[in-house]
Amino acid sequence: MKLGTMFQDVSSSFLRKPVTEKYPFERRTPPTRLRGTLVWDAETCVGCGLCATDCPANALEVFVLDRKEKRFALSYHPDRCTFCAQCVSSCRHGSLAMSNEVWELAALDRTSFTIHFGDETDVELALAGKTASNAEASSE
Ligand code: SF4
Ligand code: SF4
Repeated sequence: MKLGTMFQDVSSSFLRKPVTEKYPFERRTPPTRLRGTLVWDAETCVGCGLCATDCPANALEVFVLDRKEKRFALSYHPDRCTFCAQCVSSCRHGSLAMSNEVWELAALDRTSFTIHFGDETDVELALAGKTASNAEASSE
C-alpha cells in the first residue's frame, strides 16, 4: 500500500461514524419474534403438564399443589432450554410465551439458570416435594 493511500484511509476513518455498536450501553429494540426466556401466566394454566412432557430438553417441571384451588408451580431451566417454543405451541391454554425482552442469560453462577414460577409458598412446597403429584400430561 502506498503511503499516500494509507494516509487517506486513516484520515477518512477518523471522520467516519464507527460501525460498531456501544452495546451494552446502547441497545437496539429486539425483534418482536425474538425467543427469549419463558413467561408463564398463572391465571390460565391448568397444570396439565403438557409443556413439560413435550419439552425435548427436559427444561420444564410442573408441580401440582392443589388442582381444585388452581395452585401450580413451574420450574424452568434456561440453561437446558433450546428456545424451540414447543412448550408454547403445546400449551392449549396460551399460558406460555417467550419474552422478546429477556434474552441476556450470561451469569456468574448457576442460580439464575433455574427460574421458579408461581406463588412463593407454593414454589417452596414444590421444591420440598410437598406436591399433590408432579403433573402428568392429561387430556384437559
Ligand atoms: S422452548 Fe423448547 S426447550 Fe425451552 S422449555 Fe420450551 S419446549 Fe423446552
Ligand atoms: S401446558 Fe400450559 S396449561 Fe398445561 S401445565 Fe403447561 S403452562 Fe400450564
